Amino acid sequence: MGRKKKPIFRLTLFFISAVLTSGSILAYLSINNISNIKELTEKRVEEEQKNLAVAVSDQIHAMIFEIADMVFDSLDNYTEDHEAGINSLDAFDLVEHKLVIDRNGNLLQPWFIDGFEESPRGESTKGYRTKVDQAEKAEFIEQDFKKARQEYLASLRASSNDYDTVQALNALARLSVKLEDGTQALSYYSTITSKYYALCDPNGFPYVYYAIPQLIRISNPQNRNRVIQEIGFCLSGMELGKIPMNHSTHDLLTQVSSWVEMEPAPHEKVAEIQGSIQKIGNRLSFIDTNAEVIREYVKGEIRDELPMIKEKYHALTSNSQDEGELILMNLNGDTSSGFAITIEKLWSKLLQENLIAADQIESDLELVRAENGINSSETSLVTIMEISPYFQGYQVLVKVKNENLINELVRRRSWIYGIALTLLLGGMVLGILLILRDISREEHLAQLRADFISNVTHELKTPLTSIQLFTESILLNRIKSVAHKKEYLQIILKETGNLKRMVNNILDFSRMEKGKREYHFETVNVTLLLNNAINDLDYWLEEKNFTLVKEIEDDVTAMVDQGALTQAIINLLNNAIKFSRNRKEIIVRLEKDQEMVLIQVEDKGIGIPDDQIDLIFQPFHRVGQKNSEDISGTGLGLSVVKEIVDAHQGKIRVESQVNEGSTFTILLKSTQENSV
Ligand code: ADP
Repeated sequence: MGRKKKPIFRLTLFFISAVLTSGSILAYLSINNISNIKELTEKRVEEEQKNLAVAVSDQIHAMIFEIADMVFDSLDNYTEDHEAGINSLDAFDLVEHKLVIDRNGNLLQPWFIDGFEESPRGESTKGYRTKVDQAEKAEFIEQDFKKARQEYLASLRASSNDYDTVQALNALARLSVKLEDGTQALSYYSTITSKYYALCDPNGFPYVYYAIPQLIRISNPQNRNRVIQEIGFCLSGMELGKIPMNHSTHDLLTQVSSWVEMEPAPHEKVAEIQGSIQKIGNRLSFIDTNAEVIREYVKGEIRDELPMIKEKYHALTSNSQDEGELILMNLNGDTSSGFAITIEKLWSKLLQENLIAADQIESDLELVRAENGINSSETSLVTIMEISPYFQGYQVLVKVKNENLINELVRRRSWIYGIALTLLLGGMVLGILLILRDISREEHLAQLRADFISNVTHELKTPLTSIQLFTESILLNRIKSVAHKKEYLQIILKETGNLKRMVNNILDFSRMEKGKREYHFETVNVTLLLNNAINDLDYWLEEKNFTLVKEIEDDVTAMVDQGALTQAIINLLNNAIKFSRNRKEIIVRLEKDQEMVLIQVEDKGIGIPDDQIDLIFQPFHRVGQKNSEDISGTGLGLSVVKEIVDAHQGKIRVESQVNEGSTFTILLKSTQENSV
């Protein structure tokens, strides 16, 4: 036994230490993990924020590419007829300052005349030229305005093209002002603004620019609405690029602006004019700040240093808005086109249209100026990154919405780890306990089996020895008296009976184990059955001087398996005989009432300790008591009894006191319904 125990013991030790070691490592790691979780989460947040910032940057670039393709497709087809096409791009609210410029640096869209420019003119008739010369002489030298008017009217009649017509009209309007004929002047100017608004004088100065200050001058409460209408018309022409801008446009706008502010007029007209002034002003200041660099670009001076977009377009940083404005230019044939786009507008479009996929950690996005100097290391859970190489002065700032996020996360994780760890440790302890219990059970069982073998051998040896002895004596005729012979033969018979019972118990137990034992229930006279069982053991009772008290009711019947119940009763009686010492008294009872049949075997023997009572029905179990060491047995008798009683759906009870005796009670139902 000792030799067998060692490997199991070693294996168990190895197993337990493996479980404990891995458990401790896991516990250590999870505790470590909890303490690292803040750091890890911060890293994760940082990582996600970086990804988000990169995604934002990518998205901004994607928008720029998309817009560039779209706008250039339309701008590159520019001809004067396509102006409407360009203007329709206004619907594309991200694009500002669309421009078309020729190779000489002349801005075609927005139309801007830089300095003096010789205007194209048609051929004038001789009569026209003579009349104009005479008219100018009368107006400027002779100061005879009436005569001059006559001459200008004659020149108007002699004019053969729009340029001459508008020149004559302009002179007539001017003279009407000088002659203080406001109505006439207004009529001439309105012809100019409605029909000849796009034309310039020989120096490239638009006639409309002469008209506007004069209209302001002649305005009075009566004609005011009309004047406002004319001026509004001119401004919207300028806005639409039909009337060129030049360096005096700014002054002109200032003049109009202060005039509309001073004079009472219908509100919506004033607002309209102010809106136009605002737009034209913006365009002017864009030209003012950026025309130079754009011209340098088209002339090829700075082109090589510029970053490219999609290897097609050039990116110019605008001088206008602290690096927040980007000018994209595309060189295409005779003209070059471009437009401006601001990071602020791109940004709000991005936010408006939710172009960034939501991240796991909810974050707020902000566009910040680099010079504001927010340093991401100063604040936790904030990431700041360059938004784009095209907008150097701007950064994207990502910060988590919920500032308690990390603490909450740490708390939640700690709980999860805590619970998981407790469960793990609990499971491990339980596992170890179960293993230990199994091992001790296994050992106990091994012990029981070993004892069983030695017990059986012993049990077999005693009766076999006496059988051999008595048979030999009879065979050798050593016993002369018939009475003795009979006695010896009886002993042989009883011992054989003993052997049979034991073998039966072993066989039954084996059948029980395999679940193969079969029962045949029938109505049996239990009184008779009990008496027969007692008779079977008479020899031993007599031999060992037992007093047997029978308290047996007559004619008790029940549905039982006769053989099985007899075996159970003999096992109980046998134990009563075996485990009695000095007080050799056995009481056998049989009672029956409406419900129950009670069979009881009481002895005054060595008794059973309380803690063993539940165990004695287990196979092989024998109570190791001092005063029972010499009593042989297999440890199977009571387990067979229990099995038989169970098969009868009955109950078995034991009451016992050490050194006082034991009472075994079998309770069976009066009316058995077994049919097994
Ligand atoms: P066996 O009698 O062969 O040892 P059993 O299964 O019949 O096996 O009984 C199991 C154990 O219960 C016995 O070894 C004994 O210790 C205890 N036992 C059974 N009957 C009695 C009894 N009447 N008095 C005292 N102990 C008993």
